[in-house]
Amino acid sequence: MIVDVHGHLLDLAYHTGTPLHALLEGNTDVPKLRQGGVNGQLCPIWTPDVALSGPHSHSVTSPFRALLGVLEYLHRELSGPAGDEVMLALSAADLRIAKETGRIAIIVGMEGTDALDDDPEKLRIFHGLGLRHVCLVHERANAFGAASQVWEQGTMRCYDPARDPVGHLSDIGRELIAEMQRLRILIDLTHLVEPAFGEVLNVIEGPVVVSHGGTRGVIDSIRYLSDEQIRAVAATGGLIAASPSPLGPSLEQPGLQLLLDTVDYLANLVGTDHIGIGTDFKDQPGYYPPGFADSSETPGLIRGLEERGYNQTQIADICGENFHRLVERVIG
Ligand SMILES: [Zn+2]
Repeated sequence: MIVDVHGHLLDLAYHTGTPLHALLEGNTDVPKLRQGGVNGQLCPIWTPDVALSGPHSHSVTSPFRALLGVLEYLHRELSGPAGDEVMLALSAADLRIAKETGRIAIIVGMEGTDALDDDPEKLRIFHGLGLRHVCLVHERANAFGAASQVWEQGTMRCYDPARDPVGHLSDIGRELIAEMQRLRILIDLTHLVEPAFGEVLNVIEGPVVVSHGGTRGVIDSIRYLSDEQIRAVAATGGLIAASPSPLGPSLEQPGLQLLLDTVDYLANLVGTDHIGIGTDFKDQPGYYPPGFADSSETPGLIRGLEERGYNQTQIADICGENFHRLVERVIG
């Protein structure tokens, strides 16, 4: 089983107004996933708040309504021809069923929680529509927690501990985490800045995921995980997904080598049981990470892991089995 723990197939298809199973102009779509032998993708939906005024053409005034629109689109598509090729996965068993029936599994996630309008109870609405994963923050701090990215005058910069407020998990953030645990939603710590990262781990029971990004041992940036953070995630029984795509704002070269260096670093520190793959593939024009330009090139990733000396069991674990076990434990 091969699962991409972080790819934007769903919001990409939605924003382009095409059928869910159509060929898209971006790094991931159903035909490319099929070609690459990928069985599933965790699709974190998100819509930038208009207040960010960044380079996002689809900024909206109501992220809540916008994300309901994405899920309405998903369910409409699955009841039509796309349903023959794509399946909504609500559990670990669904991931296996999708593989056995030759369909691509979509696990619906949420990247950033702005769509909850600062109300943890709104999570139930999204859960009822299929949401099984939540990344607490995305491109900036919100009511629930603090992010490693900051928007300032229409541009994004890295969080700077010397000038930005200390990044904590808020009281309402603790309420949200309790609600996520009650609903058995997979909690994603990507984009969280310290000390919020540690504070989430203190209140959480069970494994967590870091669905994309890198390590400070490979690229020394506040956007990435320190050795202490990596060990802490592994100690929960959780998973860190290595990515060919840097978290923004970044200068480092994307690509297969970045991903493989991250896998090596994680494997040396905590072993291969805590590693996954999260591409962060989306629709940035002209964005083709060398060696892993889109989902169809997933066999190149497997060759790369072989060349770095991983055995077939370890490769299967890294590419999907570790994530499947995580879903089994957290979501059911
Ligand atoms: Zn992200």
